[in-house]
Amino acid sequence: MQLIDMNNLQCTPSPNADGREPPEGATTPVIDTVILHYTGMQTGEEALQRLCDPESKVSAHFLIDENGAAHQLVAPGMRAWHAGVSHWSGRDGMNHTSIGIELVNPGHEFGYRPFPSVQIDRLLELLAALEKLFEIPKYRYLGHSDVAPDRKQDPGELFPWRQLAALGFGVWADCPRNDKTILAKKGMVGMESASLNKSLRNIGYSVPVSEEFSQVTLDALVAFQRHWRPEDVNGFLDKGTKNALSDIEKQIDTHEKLMMQISGDE
Ligand SMILES: [Zn+2]
Repeated sequence: MQLIDMNNLQCTPSPNADGREPPEGATTPVIDTVILHYTGMQTGEEALQRLCDPESKVSAHFLIDENGAAHQLVAPGMRAWHAGVSHWSGRDGMNHTSIGIELVNPGHEFGYRPFPSVQIDRLLELLAALEKLFEIPKYRYLGHSDVAPDRKQDPGELFPWRQLAALGFGVWADCPRNDKTILAKKGMVGMESASLNKSLRNIGYSVPVSEEFSQVTLDALVAFQRHWRPEDVNGFLDKGTKNALSDIEKQIDTHEKLMMQISGDE
């Protein structure tokens, strides 16, 4: 297996992998997204075992333990099976185009707790190594909950997205986000809900064009809050969340235009 160049990376191969397919419009496979997970199991050993068990049919490219021990399970050129049914920015089946990284953490089911700094430092080391090999735009560092908001909560609101974004791995909204005045909630129909759906869609969430604040809207909004307004994941469109939404929407739009300009110049 082709190993990533990183100190003390342990090779722990998983059989749960196959070939990547090119995304729509491309002729060769593309790797342009990083998807972060927590393991959501009681121990790291249990998680590692499951990710390598042919019966489980799940895997990830990398796993990082809470003590910083890092394992490579699948070669990046192969498709690991971590995201499942997933969508982002008009694309389905995110496993084909992403690198999946599992962080050991019991998760919301078994006692969700902060990610130790030694674990995050190892993650940053890994992301720096991956950056040398793949072109991953800043706005394509995502959580599992971003690409599968109806089913997943990981890596969750304790994950230090802001710290990653400060180093170029992701985008962050530095705008004021504290105003909890509610502008829209589930069940409401109208302009505010329509514009919320539009913003979520522009960011990348799979949300239909609609004037209704539906369950799909709610799931995507909660995923957005876990990532970009983690201090209060309340499921409401409040003023603070709206500020963060438009900030992130603008940043992603700017990056996309820039990328199109670069590829147009070639
Ligand atoms: Zn996950």
